Amino acid sequence: MTEPIVTFNDVHKSFGDVKVLKGIDLDIRPAEKVAIIGPSGSGKTTIIRMLMTLEQPTSGDIIVDGTNLWKMDKKGKQVTANEKHLRAVRGDIGMVFQHFNLFPHMTILENCMTAPIHVKQESKSSAKNRSIEMLKKVGLGDKLDNYPSQLSGGQKQRVAMARALVMRPKVMLFDEVTSALDPELVGEVLEVIRDIAKDGEMALILVTHEMDFALDVADKVLFLDEGVIAEQGTASEVIEHSKNDRLQSFLHRFR
Ligand code: ADP
Repeated sequence: MTEPIVTFNDVHKSFGDVKVLKGIDLDIRPAEKVAIIGPSGSGKTTIIRMLMTLEQPTSGDIIVDGTNLWKMDKKGKQVTANEKHLRAVRGDIGMVFQHFNLFPHMTILENCMTAPIHVKQESKSSAKNRSIEMLKKVGLGDKLDNYPSQLSGGQKQRVAMARALVMRPKVMLFDEVTSALDPELVGEVLEVIRDIAKDGEMALILVTHEMDFALDVADKVLFLDEGVIAEQGTASEVIEHSKNDRLQSFLHRFR
């Protein structure tokens, strides 16, 4: 079996006295598509933020592509990973947020070209070619010179996806990317994620409340509840056949 691209070993996270994650163990393999579901406040975004190195675990290991993000010192106390590690890992991971975070003063093509040029030191022409390719892939090949303010929410979210894809990440994180969209725009964004999932190269981690979508796209579904993975399995096992009462009542709200 191939090595996991992402591993969590007994990861705990507290904010002050509040224990948000209470021992998360997780292996995600290259090209695996994983959906994380669970009630609001169960710690889904915290998992994503820790993977992006935006939060540090209180204890436990997070390993991305063989790099342990947070090392222990000799006394067993955790110390911040060094900048070189963090930069390498951030390059491996692409993220799409609920809010698109596009640069308003740049065209959508420029929005996509910035990171490869400034973070990966790619030449302008190769960044441009790849950005155009990715914007075409998300169906925005005719909007290259538009500014974000000229686009719908769904289109902006598709730009955010193209911008992440341009960096050739090994793992893509999608954190409730449709929850800020008007209902009629949700479909087009999910369609692009389906398309990305079909390519098969990248691991995808999706925090989502779209259960039919998770059933369709995810190889594995994790139900996070009160800081632990309370249930996991294939999408069908978790979403359609689980007997877990709390999961049942959670699902009841979405189906
Ligand atoms: P979810 O994504 O499942 O809704 P979150 O990971 O956003 O859950 O949050 C889990 C819990 O952690 C919530 O109770 C939230 O208030 C708390 N939390 C998240 N980030 C912080 C922070 N930076 N400081 C304090 N509490 C936080």
